[in-house]
Amino acid sequence: MSSIKISKPEELIRIDYEPPRTAWMDTPVDFRPGTWSYSAAAKNLTYLDLPNARAWQPYDENWKLPENWKQIILDGMRERLEKYRSFKLFMDICVRCGACADKCHFYIGGGDPKNMPVLRAELLRSVYRRYFTESGRRFGRLAGARDLTVDVLKEWFYYFYQCTECRRCSVFCPYGIDQAEITMIGRELLNLVGCNINWVIEPVANCFRTGNHLGIQPNGVKDMLDFLADDIQDRTGVRVEVPLNKKGADILFVAPSGDFFADPGTYTCMGYMMLFHEIGLNYTFSTYASEGGNFGLFTSHEMIKRLNAKIYAEARRLGVKWILGGECGHMWRVLHEYMDTMNGPADFLQEPVSPITGTRFENARSTKMVHITEFTSDLIRNGKLKLDPRRNDHLRLTFHDSCNPARAMGLFEEPRYVIRHAARYFYEMPEDTIREKTFCCGGGAGLGNDENIEMRMRGGMPRAMAVRHVRQRHDVNRMACICAIDRSTLSALMDYWVPGVTVMGVHELLSNALVMKGEKERTTDLRGEPLKERTDDETL
Ligand code: SF4
Ligand code: SF4
Repeated sequence: MSSIKISKPEELIRIDYEPPRTAWMDTPVDFRPGTWSYSAAAKNLTYLDLPNARAWQPYDENWKLPENWKQIILDGMRERLEKYRSFKLFMDICVRCGACADKCHFYIGGGDPKNMPVLRAELLRSVYRRYFTESGRRFGRLAGARDLTVDVLKEWFYYFYQCTECRRCSVFCPYGIDQAEITMIGRELLNLVGCNINWVIEPVANCFRTGNHLGIQPNGVKDMLDFLADDIQDRTGVRVEVPLNKKGADILFVAPSGDFFADPGTYTCMGYMMLFHEIGLNYTFSTYASEGGNFGLFTSHEMIKRLNAKIYAEARRLGVKWILGGECGHMWRVLHEYMDTMNGPADFLQEPVSPITGTRFENARSTKMVHITEFTSDLIRNGKLKLDPRRNDHLRLTFHDSCNPARAMGLFEEPRYVIRHAARYFYEMPEDTIREKTFCCGGGAGLGNDENIEMRMRGGMPRAMAVRHVRQRHDVNRMACICAIDRSTLSALMDYWVPGVTVMGVHELLSNALVMKGEKERTTDLRGEPLKERTDDETL
């Protein structure tokens, strides 16, 4: 965990909801250690042609802004008000009903009123009123308007990088105001004057340089996949192939790079490889499209488009029929909400049809990209997989709905369908913390870094309390999820709040249960942990 000191859980959970004595416009930002993220390194901005590359940190008095920074921001705001109808609407229609106020995990876990979604939006809205509405121009503060100053810019930075763009608050807004879209515009404006965080910009720069967030070279991708194939052989006795950059494959498979390179995601990747081997899928990994994640979502609309385009360029180059996507979060939000407008429709690909079951995925008619849990649940439903769920009897599971597949796609049933067929002990967390109301891990949108550790633990607290609930009631020891960032951030969150619960991908769970042709007797799961001894002589 971080070198920054964090209080013990029993202290952090004593949350002070008392608002400051000063009015919100008069309460300056306090850049307290553990609650903000380091600035983007100049070399990464330069690589991406982003403006105002320099050495600075948020706690500096002087942020070394361009001389005309205010004009740049206001011009940027005007341009976006004209371009995005949603942004204009979200600036105008909030009635301050407060329905969203207590729905953000950062407010629940931290008690800072500026983390109430309604007030977070007001940080931007107040400047919008001042410069773009008649009432704001005439009546200023009386109309909820304020000047754009350096202190306001610092406040934007602090709070727009304390929003994970999870969209939980928007589920409760009677007007459908999407705070994530407001945060995205806020971050985009900050980017115009070079105020961004390294945990977002470095992965983006790496993606352009080597294809993935971690900056792994193509030979490194190959080595890692070969290494995972060795591990599969060791556990199962079956040698799986590693098709890479294979021209003419039926399907391009794109996963988040966290699944190639970081535990526990690597076990999920082993799961994909075992599944594809078992059904004889003609697919390929790619070293160019070696990243499903799209950190453009946390940078700018232009960056979303550029990163998403890589996947489709590779599909075209390899001549595949359609694309299968792994257990990733924001890849899917981009696919479902932006892809068609930005880069689509992908008419050069075919409407996805499973080569194993013949099922036509009509929902992917336009994007030509199918979610792995849709694909796998269809295999199970058609009886194409032999599963022994007893191999997961050492696991007492719960499932975390990752924000993007849940709220951006409505993908609730497919992962649960796979889980229920791959394991026997599954327990849901409380109803108001799952499905579309799921709580964020607290570390998405580039905030999963070590220097921001206190805010991560605070923001993840509501999710952790729901896990603690099922741990106490059902002795849950494992949480499944379908997002690479979740697999990383939830692991740290569980260590802090609910020790004894570890995290896994759904396809790790599936492949533990998958009975493969020619396999040896399995004595351990994919992690090498011993299977529970059987007390009966049940056969499959
Ligand atoms: S729920 Fe919607 S309308 Fe009500 S305060 Fe929040 S953003 Fe505004
Ligand atoms: S973190 Fe999520 S719930 Fe909080 S304001 Fe942002 S989008 Fe809304």
